[in-house]
Amino acid sequence: MSTLPVDFYSESFFFISMTELKCRDYGFECDFVASGETEQVIENFRNHTEEEHGIDYSKEAIMQFLLRKQGL
Ligand SMILES: [Zn+2]
Repeated sequence: MSTLPVDFYSESFFFISMTELKCRDYGFECDFVASGETEQVIENFRNHTEEEHGIDYSKEAIMQFLLRKQGL
């Protein structure tokens, strides 16, 4: 049996928190806002940027946006 690293708890907290991402904040001339649970925001924002702007952000890249936004 192994113990979970401390990071596990903060990551879980991160994933259940509500957040939002505005397209405009990332340099697009666009009013799209993805909001809701983190996982949903990542999914919605990825779909939007790919379909509307032709940019395929990785899930990791968007997580970095969110982390920076929250000042973590
Ligand atoms: Zn957009």
